[in-house]
Amino acid sequence: MRILGIETTCDETAAAVVAMKPEGGGQILSNIVRSQIDEHAIFGGVVPEVAARAHVEVLDGIIAQALATARMSLSEVDGIAAAAGPGLIGGLLVGLTTAKTLALVAHKPLLAINHLEAHALTARLTDNVQFPYLLLLVSGGHTQLVAVMGVGDYIRLGTTLDDAIGEAFDKVAKTLGLPYPGGPALERMAQSGDPEAFAFPRPMMGRPVPDFSLSGLKTAVRLEAERIAPLSETAIADLCASFQAAVVDVVIDRTRAGLGAFRHVAGRAQALVAAGGVASNGALRRALARFAAESGLVLVVPPPALCSDNGAMLAWAGIERLNLGLGDDFTFAARPRWPLDTRGTPALYGKA
Ligand code: ATP
Ligand code: MG
Ligand code: FE
Repeated sequence: MRILGIETTCDETAAAVVAMKPEGGGQILSNIVRSQIDEHAIFGGVVPEVAARAHVEVLDGIIAQALATARMSLSEVDGIAAAAGPGLIGGLLVGLTTAKTLALVAHKPLLAINHLEAHALTARLTDNVQFPYLLLLVSGGHTQLVAVMGVGDYIRLGTTLDDAIGEAFDKVAKTLGLPYPGGPALERMAQSGDPEAFAFPRPMMGRPVPDFSLSGLKTAVRLEAERIAPLSETAIADLCASFQAAVVDVVIDRTRAGLGAFRHVAGRAQALVAAGGVASNGALRRALARFAAESGLVLVVPPPALCSDNGAMLAWAGIERLNLGLGDDFTFAARPRWPLDTRGTPALYGKA
């Protein structure tokens, strides 16, 4: 089975062709990503209307390139998958309408995919992980611990009460005058800094409920930066390293709490999977590897190019769904908001 996947939820225009291997897992035949960084950099963040127009301009060329690289014509794919949400409505309409049109003219099944489900299932493309597994989803818009029970079956164990982690990275980077997008820039800067230079708070640490809160930490960095301004290069590097160290401590502690919650709904976890753009962060990846080793878990973190937004993850989610006989009809409307969890958060924690 081979699926064309289309991603346009935010500021990447991406298309890919992925094949299902007979032994399970996927083979990426092409994966073309065009980032809109240049269009948005002057604004310091993503401007929705600019994003939508950029998707319109390049998407057909990106799809043609994805098919050409895979040496396939549209008639040879088995289905067309596109992100139908959550995300910016303009981009979603561009990607989903394009997918519907291609599916209609080529007589192929349409797969309207939840972008978060695509992040959640990427580990099964790369590593053929078995259900259920504990998912740490850390992206620009989401920060969640999820019990992934099966395709289309997700139990949200915890979430952020305010900012997403990627958003906190981006905002702290902006405060410190680093270029957009902030996450990678902040990580680079942190490499030359002292992670113990500033003792930033570690919000929510030690709580049994695996929720997150990032906004207090973000504010603490801003206040410290204002207090010691003007900032030298060294001070900026130290602020970055200390912020990143606090985030990593929080994520590990929250993941430990998530493991406890997972046990209530799905028994002992075998595998821990990280996904989303922030899972590209080297310090976080190393800390997760240590944590997984201590906890007897298999850790699966897709390579950075598959953690941040891409078309291959959409194609793979399409494969998983089509393989179960699932598909969507042409009336499927884009969903700017679309929670991943299908069962709601379980009453795990009493009245806490
Ligand atoms: P969502 O998936 O929640 O809809 P999104 O698609 O915008 O949001 P992703 O593309 O998955 O998010 O991830 C982008 C986020 O990841 C940005 O906030 C970015 O700063 C962050 N990020 C990327 N690389 C790194 C890194 N090396 N360190 C920290 N954060 C990073
Ligand atoms: Mg992006
Ligand atoms: Fe994403």
